[in-house]
Amino acid sequence: MVRTIETSEITRNIKEMCIKANHYLSDDMDDAMKQAVNTEKSPLGKKILNQLQENLEIADKEFIPICQDTGMAVVFIEIGQEVHFVGDLLENAINEGVKEGYTEGYLRKSVVKDPLIRENTKDNTPAVIHYSIVPGDKVKITLAPKGFGSENMSRIFMLKPADGIEGVKNAILTAVRDAGPNACPPMVVGVGIGGTFEKCAILAKKALTRNINENSDIPYVADLEKEMLEKINGLGIGPGGLGGTTTALAVNINTYPTHIAGLPVAVNICCHVNRHVTVII
Ligand code: SF4
Repeated sequence: MVRTIETSEITRNIKEMCIKANHYLSDDMDDAMKQAVNTEKSPLGKKILNQLQENLEIADKEFIPICQDTGMAVVFIEIGQEVHFVGDLLENAINEGVKEGYTEGYLRKSVVKDPLIRENTKDNTPAVIHYSIVPGDKVKITLAPKGFGSENMSRIFMLKPADGIEGVKNAILTAVRDAGPNACPPMVVGVGIGGTFEKCAILAKKALTRNINENSDIPYVADLEKEMLEKINGLGIGPGGLGGTTTALAVNINTYPTHIAGLPVAVNICCHVNRHVTVII
């Protein structure tokens, strides 16, 4: 049976999600950051992690954003095939939610209308929206405001099939090593393997929104996630890039079928705030 949803409901949810994501760490990130204070081996690294904790506590008490870069709003929206939207165009409704959230929440407006003319849109729109149609009559929205300190350090590698798993490992380590302190570590590393050039990048972006305590349900991918986390933490970049054993909190990898002639690998790096909020309507 077809379910009707007013797009104003999407606007309201997106607005609340923008404010929530920018003010509070998700539970998985919060736990991992607290745990890292206890496991970090370097005294300076521990000190940085304690300062990050203090920053989070102040943000919580005084209701201020957890970082000054409140990001570009990335939206993954999974729409049940039985859903029929009424009201404004869905894309307009999403952008209206971003506009209201960033304006009423006093969040920094970080989006420019043209990549070269660079005039600020003044309301943080437009969002980057990824739509997918899924079975059912629900709408699942994940909002991930993405800071560009870490976004700028992300990479795509179009490997050859013969490069194999060692080539993939090398690509991930190269991206993280080159990112160094610029990605505001401890970072979360989202990886896409397979698909086409653009699909691979989206896989990596979506991987960042997965609970960081959950490994892939594909056994060899789960093993790769664990191995890469260990290797990344062996690089010594550490919290704030000042050295230590906590360079990354998680490596999340998504895979997709690809062409016989290629092996795309995308590495989308996120910082220690790794903001993401999900609602199901
Ligand atoms: S990369 Fe993350 S922590 Fe660093 S400035 Fe941007 S949003 Fe903030």
